[in-house]
Amino acid sequence: MKNLVVDILRNNERFEIVTHEGPDEDAVGSSRALAFGLLSMGKKVKIVYPTPIPDSLLFTSAPKNQKDVKPQISLLLDVSDMNMLGGFHPRGEIVIVDHHKTDITAGMTCWIDPGKSSASEMVYDLLRALEIEITQAMASNLYLGIFGDTGGFIHVNTTPRVFRIAYELTRGGADPNLIAYRVRRSKSLTYYHLLSMVMDRMMINDGVYASYISLAELKRIKARPDDASGIVEEMASLAGAELVIFLKELNPDTVHCSMRSKTGQSALRTARAFGGGGHERAAGITLKGRASEKIEDVIEEGLKWVNKG
Ligand code: AMP
Ligand code: MN
Ligand code: MN
Repeated sequence: MKNLVVDILRNNERFEIVTHEGPDEDAVGSSRALAFGLLSMGKKVKIVYPTPIPDSLLFTSAPKNQKDVKPQISLLLDVSDMNMLGGFHPRGEIVIVDHHKTDITAGMTCWIDPGKSSASEMVYDLLRALEIEITQAMASNLYLGIFGDTGGFIHVNTTPRVFRIAYELTRGGADPNLIAYRVRRSKSLTYYHLLSMVMDRMMINDGVYASYISLAELKRIKARPDDASGIVEEMASLAGAELVIFLKELNPDTVHCSMRSKTGQSALRTARAFGGGGHERAAGITLKGRASEKIEDVIEEGLKWVNKG
């Protein structure tokens, strides 16, 4: 299906690139790299982020935001569920390029490959297929996305191919030290305050480790939602934690739940039980209600799946 997407990119002129709300390194990196690529072909491109990019990701080169382009094509990148668009309605014909296991694509034009580490790896393939010269700006954004989704080259999606592409991107001007430091060494003190609250109230049941942060607590220490990103990864670093569950209230009746499993598929299985999704070992759910109430339900479901492969 890659070839079909390549033809669509070649044969249309006006594009809207849409990624998921709460854009992460892969969402930002893949969107910007593809936008740079299409602009270099003389196309018109606008990137839509349903919610703003966190300040920590503003450092890589951004293509000039073009005026309204009346898109022929809305290319969805790193999106595995229409609920992740934060209510945005794509305006052109939808084409999906993603690396998540997903079933949203019935009847839609798509290239879905869960064997790929990231949407950024797939955009690299698209740029190569289009014979676009990969500039430093493209290389840096693609490296950012691959670094983000492989957890800094530690997750199971860190394949030999990922290292080969990272090698090419580094040769093309991506700066691994700069990118790693910007992503990893840019935490606020507020983040560590949040982390200590989350660790203090950890609930441990067998291998299931769960915690949460409420909106009132976020407000009390003047934290922004971005300040909590990365906490679930710290929980997953605990010895003995097979499945970690972290709930963060987004507004008075909406909670985002992040899960990570160390070996089996319990993160994805638990997420699916609540209508969420993601990868086998990194999954998420959007829930209606309060974190302190919902956490019990998620733990109960998680216990069913942990240690079951
Ligand atoms: P997060 O814990 O938010 O970093 O999410 C981990 C993974 O779960 C993401 O890469 C997405 O694939 C997926 N995911 C997160 N939130 C949702 C959601 N509300 N619905 C479906 N999948 C999600
Ligand atoms: Mn993402
Ligand atoms: Mn991704």
